[in-house]
Amino acid sequence: MKQKEVLIVGQGLAGTVLAFELHFAGVDVCIVNNPQKSAASRVAAGMVNPLVFKRMTKSWMVDELLPVMKKRYRELQELLGERFYFDLPMIKPLSEQETELWQERKADKRFAPFIEIVDESCPIDYLQESHTYGIVKGSGYLNTGRFLDRARHFFQQNKMLIEADFPVDGKGFEDRIFQDVEFDKIVFCEGHHLKTHPLFDFIRLQPAKGEVLQIYAPDLSENYIINRRVFVLPIGNHRFKVGSTYEWEDLTDTPTEKGKTSIVERLKDLIHVNYTIEEHWAGVRPTVADRRPVLGKHPQLEHTYVFNGLGTKGVMLVPYFASEMKQLILDNNYRVSDEVNLKRFFSF
Ligand SMILES: Cc1cc2nc3c(=O)[nH]c(=O)nc-3n(C[C@H](O)[C@H](O)[C@H](O)COP(=O)(O)OP(=O)(O)OC[C@H]3O[C@@H](n4cnc5c(N)ncnc54)[C@H](O)[C@@H]3O)c2cc1C
Repeated sequence: MKQKEVLIVGQGLAGTVLAFELHFAGVDVCIVNNPQKSAASRVAAGMVNPLVFKRMTKSWMVDELLPVMKKRYRELQELLGERFYFDLPMIKPLSEQETELWQERKADKRFAPFIEIVDESCPIDYLQESHTYGIVKGSGYLNTGRFLDRARHFFQQNKMLIEADFPVDGKGFEDRIFQDVEFDKIVFCEGHHLKTHPLFDFIRLQPAKGEVLQIYAPDLSENYIINRRVFVLPIGNHRFKVGSTYEWEDLTDTPTEKGKTSIVERLKDLIHVNYTIEEHWAGVRPTVADRRPVLGKHPQLEHTYVFNGLGTKGVMLVPYFASEMKQLILDNNYRVSDEVNLKRFFSF
């Protein structure tokens, strides 16, 4: 029987970036992905926002995550011969009260690199009039669809990808044998499908469905991501991704009228420009109850790992934590931080 070192289940952002980490470390890695199953990474707008607007805090671990993220996507762009990551400032119309809070933050040197405030007239046409406008620096987006397509091509060329369903209810994961290949280790990167995985049902996953539109708005500026209750993200050729929604009951990947109406209503308050809706997608975010990623080894099955819980911020989280995951897989004594450790769900 053929032998390989690591099998990764799932070629979303988690499985893809982890596969590259292991490949660069010289590990003989293979991915199995079922393209018929829904993948949040294919629907994601790909936006990166270093701030959390609700409380005007910095996004969790942003100072550690951003440099690793930029470096890793830059390297992958070089390897795959295409640009996927784009730096793009973000603009948010601010009320008088919000302006005060933003000014306070701007005076704080921990926030200063991320914030600017424009208090003259509106910097872009067709945006709602407001007291002032906050500009976020360090934001941007990953074209996740193109990135995953190019990565898939690379994995196929290097005979690292099997397109099939991995049966999680069979014995395959205990024997670690798949399609007549025996693997030393298996890593599950199944996104929200983890919810029905019998081995990992103790993880408190709270998947959240989201919907996104693509609009064509030839008159709207492509120089900023606009973000207030809804984001408008320029992706080139006068196209914009607009979203999103949160839904915890219906966990299908079917777009709904309700989702579309919710986005369109919020968009009406933000920009006043003609547009047409070209696409409408839905997907399910793999969100964990405590909103932190999950990295670890199964408590009983020594060679079986999980990498999940990227939630709403997969683009920014994945390069840093895929690197952590690689170290965990390669070094039995490596410890990831308690905050992201699978052990936080052990109650036995
Ligand atoms: C509407 C929406 C908007 C979003 N916007 C953003 C955003 O702007 N910025 C951001 O950072 N994040 C965003 N996200 C979140 C982001 O998409 C996720 O954090 C990230 O994509 C999760 O990646 P993943 O690899 O864990 O899961 P997924 O992308 O879901 O990938 C899981 C993969 O596993 C495969 N799989 C599962 N089970 C099996 C099996 N048994 N056998 C074989 N294959 C299997 C599936 O086919 C799939 O390809 C958004 C998500 C949604 C839904």
